[in-house]
Amino acid sequence: MTNIYKFGPHTITAGQIFLKSKHSLGLVNLKPILPGRKLFIYSRGCLDVLVISRRSVPRFLDLSPEEVSDIFQSAQQIGRVVEQEYGGTSLTVACQDGPQAGQTVPHCHVHIIPRRLGDYVDNDDIYEDITRNTNELLTLSEDGVNEPIKKGVDNDERKARSEDDMTAEAARLAWLLGEQ
Ligand code: AMP
Repeated sequence: MTNIYKFGPHTITAGQIFLKSKHSLGLVNLKPILPGRKLFIYSRGCLDVLVISRRSVPRFLDLSPEEVSDIFQSAQQIGRVVEQEYGGTSLTVACQDGPQAGQTVPHCHVHIIPRRLGDYVDNDDIYEDITRNTNELLTLSEDGVNEPIKKGVDNDERKARSEDDMTAEAARLAWLLGEQ
């Protein structure tokens, strides 16, 4: 069985993956949302995990009904665990489906982010954090459509985590999900 997975143009290591279902993979984020913007700093781990389709298609709209069902059942399963693990009381479940919606990695994925009272001064600022980098990369083309300037380069200003850090988080989540 392969130990290398693709997420759009990115290579994902087996250590980043904490859930495998028939059509989806749960993986920890290389560059999670910056914790510095929040009032509450979570005690451990990152704040933004992803569930991606196993099939490499850019859009949520490209998924078959079976894949849609699988990715959202996986999102629900992961959501239950990360909400509890990170002391949350709610979840932001977000899919940026296409570049003009803020998608920077052209491979269908859903963000699952635990939330709790006071984590942001203004609750909806989370969407600014999810899309902030993308907005900076947009430019207006001649026909008046916003186009990404640097396709495939995302979240440059965020710090990439170490392999060890990601592997430790993924192992804990896999254990909580009963995957190992
Ligand atoms: P979006 O802006 O909705 O397309 O989100 C893309 C997400 O993928 C961002 O949260 C990135 O931090 C994350 N990401 C990019 N490259 C990797 C990678 N190699 N491994 C894990 N997550 C990644």
